[in-house]
Amino acid sequence: MAALKWKKRAPVITTPRSRRRLVEFIRQQGVCNEHVLASIDAIPRHLFVDEALANHAYENTALPIGNQQTISQPYTVARMTELLMQGRPLQKVLEIGTGSGYQTAVLASLASQVYTIERIESLLEQARRRFRTLDLNNIRTYHGDGGLGWPDPMFFDGIMVTAAPLGIPLKLIEQLHIGGRMVLPIGQGDQQALVLVVRTRTGHAKKILEQVSFVPLRSGIQ
Ligand code: SAH
Repeated sequence: MAALKWKKRAPVITTPRSRRRLVEFIRQQGVCNEHVLASIDAIPRHLFVDEALANHAYENTALPIGNQQTISQPYTVARMTELLMQGRPLQKVLEIGTGSGYQTAVLASLASQVYTIERIESLLEQARRRFRTLDLNNIRTYHGDGGLGWPDPMFFDGIMVTAAPLGIPLKLIEQLHIGGRMVLPIGQGDQQALVLVVRTRTGHAKKILEQVSFVPLRSGIQ
């Protein structure tokens, strides 16, 4: 029987093997929390980007998600998650800037409950669909301005901000437990740094870490 001739298509690189290679890369870059690495290995990042970009999902790059926003680099997601956890399990976590929902999914695999706020409704709708598809049912979403914190009075043991404000949003510090941690980029353009904030009895302490690049935190909704 004559062999059928199939049209050659570019291979879609979304296999567990490419995911594992990405995990090894992130490990080499210094992330050593095994729970975080296992989570990057488990969450299918290609489902959080447009199909046309799925081939690039396991490269360590930020990718466009529409509305001039981007899904963060996997290394940055892992690094920020590790900083937020600091070796202990997370209970209640708040994320500002749901975007594609990828970072939310990583957090949801590591924390008991994740609350996430996005200001662009269409992005939030898409992320919600992905959470349903992946059966992630410990995520609560809210369409609003995350700089103002979760709309109900609430305390979190961790807050992660994935868009850059010019300074630490004080409303967010107010929603941290004493000893709670917040990880966020601060600054503008190429003058941004990752900052770790810990709420103390009298206020907060902050530590400035490496240079990063995030979209700006904007007020209001869209
Ligand atoms: N964590 C996301 C990163 C998305 S980029 C991911 O993994 O895909 C940052 C997101 O923050 C964008 O979707 C942007 O719309 C959102 N954002 C910016 N300012 C915001 C605000 N004040 N409140 C809530 N979301 C905000």
